[in-house]
Amino acid sequence: MQVIIFTDLDGSLLNHEDYSFTEAMPSLDRIKQSGIPLIITTSKTRREVELLQREMGIREPVIVENGGGIFSPRGYRNLMMESKEQKDDYTVIEIGTTYSKVRDFLKKISLRFDIRGFGDMAPAEIAGLTGLTIERAALAKDREFTEPFIMGRPDEIDSLSELAAEEGLKVARGGRFHHLMGVAQDKGKAVRIVCDLFRQSSGIELTAIGLGDSENDLAMLEQVGIPVLIPRPGKGYLDIRLPGMIWAKEAGARGWNDVVLRLLDELRGITT
Ligand SMILES: [Mg+2]
Repeated sequence: MQVIIFTDLDGSLLNHEDYSFTEAMPSLDRIKQSGIPLIITTSKTRREVELLQREMGIREPVIVENGGGIFSPRGYRNLMMESKEQKDDYTVIEIGTTYSKVRDFLKKISLRFDIRGFGDMAPAEIAGLTGLTIERAALAKDREFTEPFIMGRPDEIDSLSELAAEEGLKVARGGRFHHLMGVAQDKGKAVRIVCDLFRQSSGIELTAIGLGDSENDLAMLEQVGIPVLIPRPGKGYLDIRLPGMIWAKEAGARGWNDVVLRLLDELRGITT
């Protein structure tokens, strides 16, 4: 049996406030030593995740922009070898629609709704809203599938969602922003595809762990055998209950680290 870990970033592996993963270093070291695939599954962009992977010292497939795309380093564990698109140094599976289609819809409805997406903002404004540095905010603007946005009147989100549905789009809620994206994508669908690819390439059973804190993680948590819910600072746990679910005791990287170390101890001996 092989263990595979899917994780959300903001509020899960990264602290909600300072985006630090320092407190998860002990479990990250264990994951690296054990050769366990750590599949970052996030609303962040590929460029943001590339930087984080370099800082963490890992190079694994990633699921970016809320399941919009799966990017696997070329040649990685014989995964996704045939008939998939190549882009930069990756083999790619695109699940979401294009960013330009999402932006076109946003522009079309901008007179009716008080709405601003990352495409309407300078990096400094995104940095102000998120607490990211200007450099990282610029990476967050470099989008391929989805658009995070804020609304002047949050009560209008339902009518916005109805209009989006007519255009083949939908709205998902993350930790800080709403996200506009193609209807066909979510984190769960991407997780299912990655699990199938790992099973096909290794031929052995998988035990999948998933860690998340927000509504947009639910589809991911539903796809794994061991779903882990991380509490949100000041807001507590998302109100969901899944078979076999584990509630992390603390928020962010510290809660993430505790659960992962405990699970890897429990799973040791029955894994390859
Ligand atoms: Mg999150």
